[in-house]
Amino acid sequence: MITVHNLRKNFGTNEVLKGIDLEVHRGEVVAVVGPSGSGKSTLLRCLNLLESPDAGTIKIGDAQISAEGKIPHSAARALRSKTAMVFQHYNLFRNRTALNNVRDSIEMRKVAHRIEATTIAQDLLRRVGITADVERQYPITLSGGQSQRVSIARALAINPEAILLDEPTSALDPELVGEVLTVIRQLAAEHTTMVIVTHEMTFASEVADRVIFMDDGQIVEQGPARNVIFNPRHPRTKQFLGSSL
Ligand code: ATP
Ligand code: MG
Repeated sequence: MITVHNLRKNFGTNEVLKGIDLEVHRGEVVAVVGPSGSGKSTLLRCLNLLESPDAGTIKIGDAQISAEGKIPHSAARALRSKTAMVFQHYNLFRNRTALNNVRDSIEMRKVAHRIEATTIAQDLLRRVGITADVERQYPITLSGGQSQRVSIARALAINPEAILLDEPTSALDPELVGEVLTVIRQLAAEHTTMVIVTHEMTFASEVADRVIFMDDGQIVEQGPARNVIFNPRHPRTKQFLGSSL
């Protein structure tokens, strides 16, 4: 469903992605782990062209781009429409209620008409455990966990083929991490295609069908969690996990 071939990205002379090949199947949950600066966020950001890759091809569903030459606007737009991002710092619109944050997202993509959009938004909010009372609140009055769950509902609202989550729990107070992980677990159980960058190794091992270990702009090791996390082969993976498990 997602096929990435030879993806390269430089920032000036800094080679951040050094030829990434990646395949994510429909319904698969992939966790991306690795040291700070290894290129995890850049990889996610390239997948929906928040960063423009310097080389390689990206195919998501029936949309496809090649970094060689200029990417046509229509191809870029088509590719972007296939994924939704959830960031570490939930970026909800402050002057819109929780409900309207989700509804705007539905209306922007012209997925549904106005009345229908409200119903769809409410259904999505219930799926992430946001009640009718809470949906009327503005972001400033929401907890971090509630905000992140609204962000996830907003990502679901555009009906993407895959959701890309970049450390969705790392800005949260420890007692709020669980409620967000529960929502992500539930989406995984429903076979939502997800690529999740995370430092939560236990969570990654529970939720991911496949774990990818990145180091220095490359995929060093990948496979089921029982191999990559609990029985890594590569010295870099061993070293990294030795310090983070
Ligand atoms: P972390 O675990 O700390 O989030 P990461 O694996 O997500 O790290 P990236 O954010 O992808 O790492 O960064 C990889 C490298 O690219 C780093 O050296 C970083 O400084 C550099 N980098 C990322 N974004 C930019 C940018 N917009 N301009 C210049 N350099 C950047
Ligand atoms: Mg990052």
